[in-house]
Amino acid sequence: MAYYRSYGAAGEVTGSCHLLIIGKIKILIDCGMFQGAQEALNFEPFAFNPKDINYLIVTHAHIDHIGRIPLLVKNGFDKKIISTRATFSIAQLMLKNSAGILETKKEQLYTTKDVDPALELFGNFLEYGESMTLDKNIKITFKNAGHILGAVSVKIKFFDKGIKKSVIFSGDIGQRERIITSQIEFWKKSNYIFLESTYGLSVHEELDISIKSFKKQILKTIKKGGTVVIPSFALERTQEILYLLRQMSNNGKLKNIPVFLDSPLAINVTRTFLNYPHLFNKEVKKIIQRGENPFDFKELTNTYSKESSQHINSFSGAKIIIAGSGMCEGGRVGYHLVRYLQDKNNLVLFVGFQVNSTLGQKISSGERDLSILGSDIHVRAKIGYVSGFSAHADQKELLEWVDAVDNIYCVYLIHGDIPQLKTLKQKVKTQLKEKVHIVKMGEQIHL
Ligand SMILES: [Zn+2]
Repeated sequence: MAYYRSYGAAGEVTGSCHLLIIGKIKILIDCGMFQGAQEALNFEPFAFNPKDINYLIVTHAHIDHIGRIPLLVKNGFDKKIISTRATFSIAQLMLKNSAGILETKKEQLYTTKDVDPALELFGNFLEYGESMTLDKNIKITFKNAGHILGAVSVKIKFFDKGIKKSVIFSGDIGQRERIITSQIEFWKKSNYIFLESTYGLSVHEELDISIKSFKKQILKTIKKGGTVVIPSFALERTQEILYLLRQMSNNGKLKNIPVFLDSPLAINVTRTFLNYPHLFNKEVKKIIQRGENPFDFKELTNTYSKESSQHINSFSGAKIIIAGSGMCEGGRVGYHLVRYLQDKNNLVLFVGFQVNSTLGQKISSGERDLSILGSDIHVRAKIGYVSGFSAHADQKELLEWVDAVDNIYCVYLIHGDIPQLKTLKQKVKTQLKEKVHIVKMGEQIHL
C-alpha cells in the first residue's frame, strides 16, 4: 500500500513538507518553514513521529523547504538526508542564518546549537540524473529543477503489491531561461505528479524585458544622484543581480557608482556558488573559464561587518545597495528602507516574489504609510518591481513541464495560493486533459 500525506505547502506556498509512505518505508520530501501569515504553524508539533521517518529528501535549500529540519532532528529524526552537494553547502549557510534570526525572536523555534546535529545528517549525495536505491522496492532519481543552484525534482519508482508505480515531486520548478544557472530538465513518464503551483495563475514578463527594465530603472535613478535599494534574496537572486550589474559595469554604465552588497549571508552564498561552476549556464561558465569572477566588478564592495554596513550611509550621492531580506522581514535592508524610502529621488527596486503580509509586499503593493523598525515612514521614493526574474515557472511553463510527462494517473497541486491553484487546476483539466486535484493540508491520498 502506498499513500501520501500533506503536512505543508498545501493551499499555500510555504512550509513544504510531504510524506510518502510505501509499505513500511516513510519518506519525507522537504521539511520547510511556514512564512508570512502562516508563521504560527511552525510551533505546532509535527503531526507524525519524526523518529519513524526512514529518509528525508531535500529538493533545494530555500528556507520554506529546509527551515524545520533542525526541529525535525530535535524531535527524533536521525536518518540520513538525501540532497545534492550544492543544496547541502547552501543549506549550511541558510540554516545557520535562519537560526540566528529565530534567536532574536521572543518565542524561539530553535537556536544555532540545533543546526549542527541537523547538518551532520546530510551526506547521502545524489546529483542531477543520478539514481539511488532506498529499498529493494524503491528507487529515486534526481533531475535539475532549474529553480536555484542544486535544486531538484525527484522521481520515486516503487513496487506496490508487485505493481510498478512512480511519483514525481516537482520541488520548485524554474523558468526555462535562467540568468546564471543551468536549464531545467523534463521527465518523460510518471503515474503521479505533485506539482508546485506558485504561479499557476500568471504569466511572467519575458526575461529579456525584465533585464532591460531592471537596468533602465537603475540608470534613471543613479543619473539623478539617487540611491537604489534592492531588497534581495541572498540565495541566487543576489548572484543574478550581481551578474547583471557586472554587465553594466563592463559596459561603462556604472561609471564608478558604488555598489554595496550588504548581506553577510549573500556574501557567503556567492562564495559557495563559485564552488559549483558546472551548475552554471554556458555564458557564466565561459567567464569562469577565463579565470574571472562572474559576480565581481570594480564598483562592488562587500560590506560584511556591521561597521562597514553602517559606513554606507556616509556615501552621499548615487549608489546601489543590495541587502536582505528579500521580503524586507529582518536583515539589514530595514535600516536602508528607513533612510531611503522617504526621498523621492531614490528607488526601492523589488526583484522577487513577496509573500502576503510581509513588509516587502506592503511596500511593493503601494502602501504609503508604514512603521519600520519603530519609525513611522511616509514613502516618497519610487517603488519598482521586476517580475521576470522569478525562480519559478509561470503557468505556461508549468503546463509544458507536465505535458512532457506520459502515463499520468493524476496531477496533485501543491505549493500555491488558492487562486493560483484553482486556475492551474482548470488549465490542467481542460488543456492537458489530465485528472487533477488540489491537495489540502493533512489530506491523505492513496497512490
Ligand atoms: Zn524554492
